[in-house]
Amino acid sequence: MAQSRAEEDDYRNKQPMHEQQHGEPKQEDYGYSLYPERSGSKYKQGSIGESLFTFKHKCHIMLQFAMDTSPYAKLLLAAMRTSGCAVHKDRHFSCEDCDGTVSGGFDAATSQIVLCQNNIHQQAHMNRVVTHELIHAFDHCRARVDWFTDFRHLACSEIRAANLSGDCSFVNEVSRFNFGLKEHHQECVRSRALRSILAVRKVSREEAERVVDEVFDSCFRDHAPFGRIPHSKKDAKFAYRDFENRDRYYANL
Ligand SMILES: [Zn+2]
Repeated sequence: MAQSRAEEDDYRNKQPMHEQQHGEPKQEDYGYSLYPERSGSKYKQGSIGESLFTFKHKCHIMLQFAMDTSPYAKLLLAAMRTSGCAVHKDRHFSCEDCDGTVSGGFDAATSQIVLCQNNIHQQAHMNRVVTHELIHAFDHCRARVDWFTDFRHLACSEIRAANLSGDCSFVNEVSRFNFGLKEHHQECVRSRALRSILAVRKVSREEAERVVDEVFDSCFRDHAPFGRIPHSKKDAKFAYRDFENRDRYYANL
């Protein structure tokens, strides 16, 4: 299948999905087996009319709340609009049942973000998943990302998503007394990027580590569109305010 998927790994204790096997190589499915509702290349249309009081309904409510209130999501949505890639809730998001190991994914073939309604139960988790996947969508929008064959593009986007989505902030809250904050954040970003890649690509851990290390410095330094690493909601709010002011400034020229 000539499709590709960047995925969002649950932050709970998870193992890589595809350990490299000895003997005959397994066929590459780009992680699609983790998303059983996804088959073929047609995108799924979200429907507001779907039954009430279901996971799907709850997923749609939490998604709307994230889009309306999370400064991370608001900044990314605004940045994509500015870049000519406006995101529409019903077209670009899909709530689906997934494999128990993933919380979300970005389907580059359809430019659609998958939210795993059976694995996301809290608003804070939804906000992080939406932000993480929007960073992939942002990268997909601003550059012609070759998710399929150039492994470095996937690695770079996973590094950026782990660095900028707050995925590693929660861990930092818990561990900041045990580690230097900066070093721990970098280590967290590196290991989360590795885990995400290993979940969707059949490559060895050594190969994944080699590629992540090759692109790490430049991708870790790339904070677009935040302009800084948003370590907290407050940081993200400031980044959003700066972005809006920058827009206003350009509009006045
Ligand atoms: Zn990802």
